[in-house]
Amino acid sequence: MPSGDPLDRAGAKNALNHCIVEGLTVYSIHFREELANDELTVPEVLQVCRSGTIFMAPERDVKTGQWKYRNHRFREQAMIKNNVHECAVCGAQIELERRNYRYRESGISNIVLQGIEVAECSKCGNSDAIIPRVERVHLAIAKALADSPARLTGEQLRYLRMHLGLTGADLARYLHTDKTKVSKWERGEDRIGPATDRLMRLLTAALDKAMRSSVTSIAEHLQHVSDDPGTAWELYVDVSTLQHSFVKVSKAA
Ligand SMILES: [Zn+2]
Repeated sequence: MPSGDPLDRAGAKNALNHCIVEGLTVYSIHFREELANDELTVPEVLQVCRSGTIFMAPERDVKTGQWKYRNHRFREQAMIKNNVHECAVCGAQIELERRNYRYRESGISNIVLQGIEVAECSKCGNSDAIIPRVERVHLAIAKALADSPARLTGEQLRYLRMHLGLTGADLARYLHTDKTKVSKWERGEDRIGPATDRLMRLLTAALDKAMRSSVTSIAEHLQHVSDDPGTAWELYVDVSTLQHSFVKVSKAA
């Protein structure tokens, strides 16, 4: 269904900001594929949404009639739609179902979001995952990681770095190492050391304004972090309450 005139640049940026802070963000199958192809994660996309500008000329999507906007940093396009009951790819009516959602787009394999609305489109095969207040969900994940019971993994370190908007070189300066080392940690080629793990948690709490009130409880938690590499945990984040829990899982042999 065609939806009027496109927004101007400032209007589109405001609308996108509103969606990620207060509104809903829909991850279509195309969005997830593009992320995977470009080896990007949502924390990087959010950084660009906060700081980036939008290309002048929006394009109208031929199937849904919605306007698509491009950020200057990414090839991915954002579409601002008014009705989540329409498939983001073909515009057909879709039924939403509330369920747990393994949040791979975060860049972390062991996160499950609870209470996500997911829709499968029977017409075109798309599946839309609808994330409410994605900025706040991402902050809740960062807080949970700082509070994690086990040594940070490479992908968790990468998430925190992206969440803080730091480059590999920036983080290397804070941790008194070099960016090659940071990159080895993030790719899982080297295990993060116990002191780096603790420093990263405190750094996250200190650099993210929204987490500063948690810095004392995170400091108290440091003595309880397990350095045993044999234990795996899954992080569950409830998207309504933004509360998190960790569930121990047995590692596949
Ligand atoms: Zn569809």
